[in-house]
Amino acid sequence: MAEQRLSGVGVTPLSGVGTVVWYAPDAELDEPPAPESVDPDAERERFEAARDEAREEIRAERERTAERVGEAEAEVFDAHIQFLEDPQITEGVETAIDEGLPAEHAVTRTFDRFVEQFAEMEGRMAERADDLRDVRDRLVRVLVGGDRVDLSALPEGSVVLAERLTPSDTAQLDPERVAGFATVTGGRTSHAAIFARSLALPAVVGIGDALNDVADGADVVVDGTEGTLVVDPDDETREAAAGGEDVEIRADPVATADGTPIEVAANVGTEADVGPAADRGADGIGLYRTEFLFLDRTSPPDEDEQYTAYRGALEAFPEGRVIVRTLDIGGDKPVEYLDLPDEENPFLGERGIRRSLGPDADLFETQLRALLRAAGDDAGGDLSVMLPLVTTVEEVRKARDVLESVAADLDAEGEEYALPEFGVMIETPAAAFLAADLVEYVEFFSIGTNDLAQYVMAAERGNDRVADLGDYRQPAVLRAIRMTVEATEGTDVWVGMCGEMAGDPDLTELLVGLGLDELSMSAVTVPQVKGAVTETTLADARDVAERALAASTKDQVEDVLTETTQ
Ligand code: PEP
Ligand code: MG
Repeated sequence: MAEQRLSGVGVTPLSGVGTVVWYAPDAELDEPPAPESVDPDAERERFEAARDEAREEIRAERERTAERVGEAEAEVFDAHIQFLEDPQITEGVETAIDEGLPAEHAVTRTFDRFVEQFAEMEGRMAERADDLRDVRDRLVRVLVGGDRVDLSALPEGSVVLAERLTPSDTAQLDPERVAGFATVTGGRTSHAAIFARSLALPAVVGIGDALNDVADGADVVVDGTEGTLVVDPDDETREAAAGGEDVEIRADPVATADGTPIEVAANVGTEADVGPAADRGADGIGLYRTEFLFLDRTSPPDEDEQYTAYRGALEAFPEGRVIVRTLDIGGDKPVEYLDLPDEENPFLGERGIRRSLGPDADLFETQLRALLRAAGDDAGGDLSVMLPLVTTVEEVRKARDVLESVAADLDAEGEEYALPEFGVMIETPAAAFLAADLVEYVEFFSIGTNDLAQYVMAAERGNDRVADLGDYRQPAVLRAIRMTVEATEGTDVWVGMCGEMAGDPDLTELLVGLGLDELSMSAVTVPQVKGAVTETTLADARDVAERALAASTKDQVEDVLTETTQ
């Protein structure tokens, strides 16, 4: 049989070969019967029984996820239980049953209404819609008696195909057994894509409806580099994919060919990301996005839970550096148990350090206590603390004051602690303009190009319509980076980068030339970036940077990059 290629968006430069396991294709319900033939009492009982069974399933999955992945990831199931028990949703289902619908149709109609409401909201609120779909599909499956694929116990070499993968689905995938996945929906920044990059799984998302024609049990190759799913691959395609990546994993730190050391670290969001980061050869963690410890749960993690999470990361990198970013809540990262304001422009509102020095001052203090205690523990690497979304010198001064008062409290209590290295993210134009002043207060900068490009270019990250404008290859973004690095010259402040730009191996030479000391990225491209560092010299890299900085259009920047990779 001739092989067939389906195109989508490749999200990791990895390939995998395996057998298709379709995950939860949306249950198609038949038309509901005439209302007079439905017995509402019996349907209410069926609904009650289905809720009990679903609750048991969710609890079991929660426990398994807590063991295999981590407590923070397991908390997503608490949100599912909440939806299952939500009085408004329950009332909606019961009313629909009273109107003459069987339980499964009543569940679908009610949940779909709530899904619609959430899907219209901004950013991560929209992800709640996925949680609701999860609960809806579970209830319908229990009601109509369908079998469900257990994602945590798939046979080795499975390639998971799905309409979409929700956070709770992805948290269950075992990277040791799963050869890759492909989804009908989703783009580069979808949850499933970020997960694939953190766990170094071959993945293609956004294939569209054509994926639905691929049969369960089919042989496939997931080619994350080309962004294709190859069905019934011929021997050549299969061997090329099974041959694995043609990239060397370098466990040791790297330097340019003429000896300038460049630290190459990984970005992590959950405890599950830490292992793959070490396996890909990261020197340390350049960005620990701690908000993931706070999302999808009903109350914040306490000091001890945070301490344990930070210690876990430090122990995975005994020789390295672990940069923990304080809570970056707000913007597109809402948290249910915090009283977040309803803002017209959440990206320009109360987010990151603004909340930590305002309404979330208590959370900030607890987090700093956990961080200082973790820094004081001798086993493991060095801990650094970094502030998100800085725009003024006062914010940095105030945050330092809080840090010092937390240290004084720990001292008075006789707790073991140490003062970590202290740095700020440069991810706003204000911070880049003020970099020459900020150097007085910090030991390092880390440039967050995801937000920096968004704010410099006035192009919302994640909005496909302005993706070209918000690209990190825009000359204005390059100049903001250079301005930041220049401000540190002649000081002891070092500069890293932890936005997506740092993980693009085609740009490594340019970034080295712009003067970055450290690059931190999703684990998957650590080996490629390490390789790219060793292949350039400082003189060549500076030459590329000089030419790119002279460019006045993105096309010209791209021309410089293509010339140098030829
Ligand atoms: C960034 O803005 O580049 C960054 C690394 O932070 P986040 O993506 O978490 O906003
Ligand atoms: Mg950011």
